[in-house]
Amino acid sequence: KFITFEGIDGAGKTTHILGCRTLLESRLQGSGRAVVSTREPGGTPLGEALRDLVLHQSMHLDTEALLMFAARREHMDRVIGPALARGDWVLCDRFTDATFAYQGGGRGLPRERLDALERWVQGDFQPDLTLLFDVPPDTAATRRQAHQSDRFERESHEFFERTRDEYLRRAAAASDRIRVIDAGRGIDAVRRDVDAALLALLAV
Ligand code: C5P
Ligand code: MG
Repeated sequence: KFITFEGIDGAGKTTHILGCRTLLESRLQGSGRAVVSTREPGGTPLGEALRDLVLHQSMHLDTEALLMFAARREHMDRVIGPALARGDWVLCDRFTDATFAYQGGGRGLPRERLDALERWVQGDFQPDLTLLFDVPPDTAATRRQAHQSDRFERESHEFFERTRDEYLRRAAAASDRIRVIDAGRGIDAVRRDVDAALLALLAV
């Protein structure tokens, strides 16, 4: 199964990915299936090099979107595809929903362009489950203060409003695939919802 984790910077997804990994590893023990944790942009040597460029250099918006999909193409080919073919579970910190939310919602790149790139790179490949960690931008900004490390994390309040809105719009349109989790609550409450979503997927 392929599970992706989404949300604006500071939503807390990185913390919960670790919890998911622990839960899944204990459930899959002895099954011969492994849990692979990876991230976007990144996940391959070329993808990590692209990540470094995209996070620290300013560039044309089209370039930014194309690099995200270039990294994704490599990632699917070398990591995600082979892992799923072996029957492993893949946990991915951000995927295509992030491109629609950040480059589309946040920066205003027309959605049709992203739809075209998505079709080109992915065909109809989609995550089995996407957990969207939803928080108001103010909460996220407070949580982010410790590590303002890349150019996206220094974006404005309005940028994160637009990014969040696009995430929520996609969640409403995708019905089943995207599970919205209220990540404004404490870690334990969020964790219970995350675990429930994973257990439901393990049961099918
Ligand atoms: O998940 P993480 O915060 O480590 O992601 C790195 C950065 O890349 C984030 O600041 C995010 O805003 C940015 N990003 C992006 N567009 C994507 C994926 C990530 O702007 N499609
Ligand atoms: Mg971040």
